[in-house]
Amino acid sequence: MTLHVAVVGGGAVGVTAAHDLARDGADVTLFERDELASGSSGRAAGVCYSAFPHAVDAENGRRSLDRFRALSESRDDFEFTGCPYVWFAHEDDTERCDGVRKQVAQMNAVGADVSVVSPDALRTAFPALETAGIGVAARCDDAGYTEPATYVRAMGAKAREAGVRIEEDTPVRLRESGTILTPAATHEFDAVVLATGVQTKQVLAESGIQLPMKPYRVQALTTEQTQASDGIPMTYDATEGFYFRPRKGGLLVGDGTELFESDPDDYPKDADDSFVETNRSRVENRVTFEPTVSRAWAGMCGATPDCDPLVGELRDGLYVACGFQGHGFMRAPAIGERLAEHVLGGEGIQEFDPRRFRGDEEFEIVEGLS
Ligand SMILES: Cc1cc2nc3c(=O)[nH]c(=O)nc-3n(C[C@H](O)[C@H](O)[C@H](O)COP(=O)(O)OP(=O)(O)OC[C@H]3O[C@@H](n4cnc5c(N)ncnc54)[C@H](O)[C@@H]3O)c2cc1C
Repeated sequence: MTLHVAVVGGGAVGVTAAHDLARDGADVTLFERDELASGSSGRAAGVCYSAFPHAVDAENGRRSLDRFRALSESRDDFEFTGCPYVWFAHEDDTERCDGVRKQVAQMNAVGADVSVVSPDALRTAFPALETAGIGVAARCDDAGYTEPATYVRAMGAKAREAGVRIEEDTPVRLRESGTILTPAATHEFDAVVLATGVQTKQVLAESGIQLPMKPYRVQALTTEQTQASDGIPMTYDATEGFYFRPRKGGLLVGDGTELFESDPDDYPKDADDSFVETNRSRVENRVTFEPTVSRAWAGMCGATPDCDPLVGELRDGLYVACGFQGHGFMRAPAIGERLAEHVLGGEGIQEFDPRRFRGDEEFEIVEGLS
């Protein structure tokens, strides 16, 4: 018997889940309230790696990288660029220096290909990176970047090829587990997958279902093209709390996290002047050229009480995937894949089971995965 599934949300998770469901025999309709990639996936930085200290994340990171590379090799409309990821703490920040060493040991224990590198080795490998004042650095070569919106569009096209009906400009309301309302009609499905990102709490609220996920604002900017940016790795400064990666001969720089809940439908979409100025000068201290800002913007991420996402069956036939703590794009291919398997009767990701919470938990937003 064919399973009829609604996937709500055309971001990186939704298009992947929809594609895999249809490929594996389900009859799938994807509803997107705007257009594909109009949510967080279209505003993300596209930094991807498998450097995680927990086994489930490392596995999802590796699987996602495999899928990104395979998609890049098989299609002209998507490009994934392999690039080392390095992160470091300043020499006067002994706590974070210890933290980097411990992280590397934990990551190695779960099979991640990462190592501690000396500032000298970093300078030799990446001459355009300014390494003054770095105490401890680490490097992961199982990493790379892409433009996230191109993944969503390419995977959306692949989903259509697999038989998914994609209905854009179609906001969905949930009435009960298998029943959804669009502006034109009421639809019944065997299963509904809410891949609605930071809007998931609102989508559920109408059915009286609570979810412990708080949307929060983050910011990013790009710099103009300069030849000197060649050979820059993807970089995270753990002491100052910002990251950058190569982008079209310039850089993409990010962070500017606000540790309070914001309305995902009503937040300032432009970056703050203070974010732009602070991060332009931070990155200027870390590269051997003068970066000029070309564009800056803000977007939303979702936090949960334990920093792990909420992925799986929340009620009979009703599945959710959200709360990725700013690391949802790099795990989206694996999360979408595992979610599709779960809907089709396979095991979910036990660690991310959304029913581990009541839904009304009080918690503070913290940055990152821990
Ligand atoms: C500035 C910034 C930088 C980031 N950088 C990175 C990074 O480098 N690496 C990384 O891994 N992650 C990064 N992230 C996080 C990443 O963007 C998200 O975790 C990921 O994109 C989430 O994907 P998603 O498919 O769950 O959600 P989304 O991409 O938000 O998709 C949800 C979709 O659901 C739709 N929708 C919502 N409500 C409804 C409704 N009622 N009916 C129909 N459709 C609906 C929305 O329009 C949206 O298109 C970053 C985020 C931001 C903002």
